[in-house]
Amino acid sequence: YEIRLSLVGSEMCIRDSPLTKLINRRVLLRLAQRSNEGHQVYSLIMFDLDRFKRINDNHGHAVGDRVLVNVAKVIQEELRTTDIVARFGGEEFVAVLPNIELSDAKNIANRVALSISRQSITLDDDAELKSTSSVGVTQRRQGETLDETLKRADDLLYFAKNNGRDQVICDDDFSQAV
Ligand code: GH3
Ligand code: MG
Ligand code: MG
Repeated sequence: YEIRLSLVGSEMCIRDSPLTKLINRRVLLRLAQRSNEGHQVYSLIMFDLDRFKRINDNHGHAVGDRVLVNVAKVIQEELRTTDIVARFGGEEFVAVLPNIELSDAKNIANRVALSISRQSITLDDDAELKSTSSVGVTQRRQGETLDETLKRADDLLYFAKNNGRDQVICDDDFSQAV
């Protein structure tokens, strides 16, 4: 699989920050340059943590960082090593799932989102802090570039936010919804 091969080739510079140990947006886009041609089938899942700013505001940036590290870990643990997970923005993550079609991607996204929502971190006063995510899921269409697939996932994620957060919105849900 081409994305994977080029990932291995650039292993020396794939790390984002020491925080999550994931690749960042720039690296993901670069890895995907070669996948923009050809017939690869993949699905893409975009996660954005809900009301994350509140966590920083209420508990401090260090607690926010711990949540991010946990979420990155949960996403990676739930996916396969052949899937590519990137920290796409501050509290936004993207997973690229080679050879996975939409119906499977939807199940996987729901499983990961559930796992994120069950995860908690223990605060200094022993309270448990949980967080949820809004998620967009789509399958790459023939001939499409990663940018185009990302844009659609982002639109679906935006719909999930506006529809009340803490939910997974898939391409086919969206066509039913409009
Ligand atoms: P929404 O549900 O609409 O996504 O709300 P939100 O609060 O999650 O979204 P918003 O974009 O308003 O805030 C994102 C916050 O993420 C703001 C920013 O300070 C925080 N953030 C970004 N990167 C980091 C980081 O590395 N560490 C910490 N602790 N916070 C971060
Ligand atoms: Mg965001
Ligand atoms: Mg957010």
